[in-house]
Amino acid sequence: MSVIAAIATPRGTGGISVIRISGEDTFELCNGIFTPTSTKKRPSEMEGYTCAYGKITDGGEYIDDCVLTVFCAPKSYTGEDVAEISCHGGIFVTNRILQLIFRNGAVPAEPGEFTKRAFLNGKMNLIQAEAVMNIISAEGRASHCCAAALKQGAIFGNIDAVAKKLLGLLGELGAWVDYPEEDIPEVESGEMLSVLEESASALEKILRDYDSGKIIREGVDTVIVGKPNVGKSTLMNLLSGCERSIVTDIAGTTRDIVEESVTLGDIVLRLSDTAGIRKAEDIVEKFGVERANAKLDAAELVLAVFDNSEPFNEEDEEICKRCEGKKCIALINKTDKEQSLDVGHIEKTFEKVIYISARSGEGTHELEAAICGLFGTDGLNYNEGILANERQRLCVQNSLNAIKEAVFALNDGYTLDAVNILIDEAENYLLELTGEKVSEAVVNEVFSHFCVGK
Ligand code: GDP
Repeated sequence: MSVIAAIATPRGTGGISVIRISGEDTFELCNGIFTPTSTKKRPSEMEGYTCAYGKITDGGEYIDDCVLTVFCAPKSYTGEDVAEISCHGGIFVTNRILQLIFRNGAVPAEPGEFTKRAFLNGKMNLIQAEAVMNIISAEGRASHCCAAALKQGAIFGNIDAVAKKLLGLLGELGAWVDYPEEDIPEVESGEMLSVLEESASALEKILRDYDSGKIIREGVDTVIVGKPNVGKSTLMNLLSGCERSIVTDIAGTTRDIVEESVTLGDIVLRLSDTAGIRKAEDIVEKFGVERANAKLDAAELVLAVFDNSEPFNEEDEEICKRCEGKKCIALINKTDKEQSLDVGHIEKTFEKVIYISARSGEGTHELEAAICGLFGTDGLNYNEGILANERQRLCVQNSLNAIKEAVFALNDGYTLDAVNILIDEAENYLLELTGEKVSEAVVNEVFSHFCVGK
C-alpha cells in the first residue's frame, strides 16, 4: 500500500497541528525530512509508541521544530507503520511540511482513508469504523455515548450472536441439503423455528431502538410558535445561551427565522425562532409569517408559547388550532409574573403543558423531561448502542425480512432448500453490516463520508 499523508487537525491557526503519515515506507520517508535532537535514533530505528523532538528540514533548510510520534505495524491506528508529526499550528507551515512529505513519496490521503485501512487490516469492523465518525460529529452527551458504545463493540456483540446462530442453522441445513441420500438426521423444524424467532426478536429490538434514537443522533427539528411578545426570542436565547434573535417589547419584531442547534440536557434541538403565527399586516412581516407556517408544517416538535400574564385570546386560540395533530408541548411562559391566563383550553388541547420563565430559566429541566418522554428516549440505554445510520438500519431490516420469510417457509412446508437460501440471505445482510462480507463499492461509499485525515 502506498504511503498516505494528511493534516489530521482542523484547517486553521492553532497551537499545534498534527500531520499523519501511514504506509510501509513511512519511517524511511521520515528519515529524509526529520532530524531528531532528543535522541540519536533515526525515525526508522525508533520503537513503537515513542516520540522524538527534532527539526523538519527541506534539503538543509530549517522549517519547524516538531515532535514525531512513531507507531509500528501492526500496533497502530491503521495497522501499518504510522508517524504523526506535531508541528506549530500555522496554516502555512503545516501545509509546507505536508507538501514536503508529498515530495518525498507520500500521496494525499482520501477522506477516511486512515480508518478505511484500519478496517481493511482488521483493526476494527465496519460498525466500529462508522462509530469513529459519529464520535467526531457528536454534539451532545447522548449522541457521544451511543457512538462510544458502538466503537466499544456494543451492537456488534448482538449482531454477531445472531449471525453465529444463523450460521449454526446453515451448517445443519447445508449437510442435509447437500447430501440428502446420506444418513443425516433430519433437521428439527421446531428447533429451527425457535432459533429463527429468537434472532428475529433480537433484530426487532435493535430496529426499535434505532427509531427512538433518531433524535439522539440527529436532533429534533423544533419550531417555537406563539403570538408576539409571549417570550419566544427570550426562550430561544435562554436555550442557546446567547443573544441570537432580537428581543423587543414591540409586537412582531422578530421578523426572520433564526436557526440554531442547542443542547437541552442530553438532546440536541435544531431550533427555528419564528416571526410568530399571526395575521401579519405589512409585507415584510407577511413574508416571515409564511415561512414560519411552512416551518411549522415540517417541524418534528412544536413548542407553543403562551403568556401567563395575559388573558387567553383569539391569537392564542389560532396557535392551538395550528398545533393540532403535531408533536407539541405548550409552554406557559412568564410564570414569574402574576397569572391572568386561563389555561383551561390549553390544558385540554395539549398533551403536555410546562410552566416556565424564559427570563429566569425556571422550568427547563421539566421541558427536557417532557421532550424525552414525547420521543420515547427516556427508556433508551445508550450504552447498549444504537445503529448509527441508514446503511446499518437497512442491513438489519433486510436480514429480519429474510428471517421472517424463512419462518413463513418453514411453517408452510416449503422445501428445506428454500429455507436454506433465505437463512443464507439473512446471514449475508448481517455480514454486510459488520463488514465481514461486503463489496468494495459499499466500503468506498462508507468512507467517502469521512473527513480527510481521519
Ligand atoms: P417574542 O415576541 O415572543 O419573541 O417575545 P420576546 O422574547 O421578545 O419577549 C417579549 C418581552 O417579554 C420582553 O420584554 C421580554 O423580556 C419579556 N419576557 C420574556 N420572557 C419573560 C419571562 O419569563 N418573564 C418576564 N417577566 N418577562 C419575560
